[in-house]
Amino acid sequence: MQRLTHWIDGAARTPAADRWLPVHAPAIGRVYAEVAAGDATDVDLALQAAERAAPGWAALPNSKRAALLERLAALLEARNDEFAHAESLDGGKPFALARDAEIPRAVANLRFFAHAATQFASESHHGELGLHYTLRQPLGTVATISPWNLPLYLFTWKIAPALAAGNTVVAKPSEITPATATLLAALSAEAGLPPGVLNLVHGSGAEVGETLVVDPRVRAVSFTGSTAVGRRIGALAGGLLKKTSLELGGKNATLVFADSDWEDRLDTLVRSAFQNSGQICLCGSRILVERRIAVQFTERFVAEAAALRVGDPMDADVRMGPLVSQAHFDKVLAALRRARDEGGRVLCGGHALDRPGWFVAPTVIDGLGPDCATNQEEIFGPVVTLQTFDDDAEALALANAGRYGLAATLWTRDLARAHRLAAALRAGMVWINGWMLRDLRTPFGGSGDSGLGREGGLEAMRFFTEAKNIGLSLE
Ligand code: NAD
Repeated sequence: MQRLTHWIDGAARTPAADRWLPVHAPAIGRVYAEVAAGDATDVDLALQAAERAAPGWAALPNSKRAALLERLAALLEARNDEFAHAESLDGGKPFALARDAEIPRAVANLRFFAHAATQFASESHHGELGLHYTLRQPLGTVATISPWNLPLYLFTWKIAPALAAGNTVVAKPSEITPATATLLAALSAEAGLPPGVLNLVHGSGAEVGETLVVDPRVRAVSFTGSTAVGRRIGALAGGLLKKTSLELGGKNATLVFADSDWEDRLDTLVRSAFQNSGQICLCGSRILVERRIAVQFTERFVAEAAALRVGDPMDADVRMGPLVSQAHFDKVLAALRRARDEGGRVLCGGHALDRPGWFVAPTVIDGLGPDCATNQEEIFGPVVTLQTFDDDAEALALANAGRYGLAATLWTRDLARAHRLAAALRAGMVWINGWMLRDLRTPFGGSGDSGLGREGGLEAMRFFTEAKNIGLSLE
């Protein structure tokens, strides 16, 4: 059986206590590998290595750090399909999606922040009493903790700016999808990253994650994951006055107005609900439709959802794979039972597929109001609800009815309405007539139960640096 090890001080390392966790292939529901179950000893070794490497890495010219990240990007790009295969195996996502979107997006993260290393600049302020300039210095050693839904994309989204800004990193990927981070760590040595600059400690969140969060050598924690764990990390780090970035859950609204060209964009609308089996924090899980088109929209949308090909992620025609784990599968099925108990009408799906692995059919539910648990709690599966509205005010009230504030999508041809509503929606990101329009320079993140802080572009470079202002008297 394949064993996925830590990566510490430039070398693969087995866990000190020789404990291992099973890694499953969700499309068959069986164990295919084991991953190191790290503990405090492993974390300590990784932090020692990261601390040793920190001064040298911070002192490297920006262009050198940029060149090393560029090289890592190029090596990853050259092995795109191998990584896509690994990502599809342990996460269950369609191979084509990993090959054409997610691994290329990880390459883009590395490349983008390689450039950022040389483009990042700080401010100066010329005042009456003197000249001020701001240094943005690396923090030292930082921890990144990432989830299973976009394993390599979110891993690189964090380590790339942290490294570009001159920090060394101890990263903890999800124990559920550890494969591609392990491959990338090995590739970092091939790219020429000095030992200790990027370290990987696998294991459970409670053991490895929390040990990292509370260790005083870790100067900042960048976390993406569930709201419950984000809250816990925020509480632990708050007590220590430690810098944190928390990218958490979502329950995003998709607003479809009668004047939009929704019929022509149905494919995007369906993708925005069901891509990666709905396991993307940016998927729209509450679809709000103007009443005038509700009947036609429901008919067409349900037909498209029901026709989505679900099955073996390696099959080129498959649009949706399984859910990531038995635990998540159970959680989604429990949410479907709750939706029925709340009076929801299942228009398609609503059940598991009768085959090995953790497959749930694309599900569309209507008949539920904004306050029920189905419309309030994140399900993070291939499950969407439909609600109707009569005017802009009602659409806005429905969209904003919840504790989350991550993303929203607006479909309308009315420019004034689009901008008015975009400004009023409680969401960190709003897309108009499109979905997941990502530009790596833009701020990424949400408010409320969706988290604290922003990632992306300058926001990430600022997070991973400490500002120091220096004032010079001109007298
Ligand atoms: P999770 O919170 O269970 O785990 C995320 C990571 O945190 C994993 O590496 C896990 O091992 C670790 N962890 C768990 N408990 C910990 C603890 N006590 N201390 C430190 N680390 C701990 O989340 P998940 O189930 O892996 O991911 C799905 C969630 O992530 C969803 O809620 C989704 O919305 C969210 N998400 C958010 C974004 C965003 O950008 N806002 C992006 C992707 C996913």
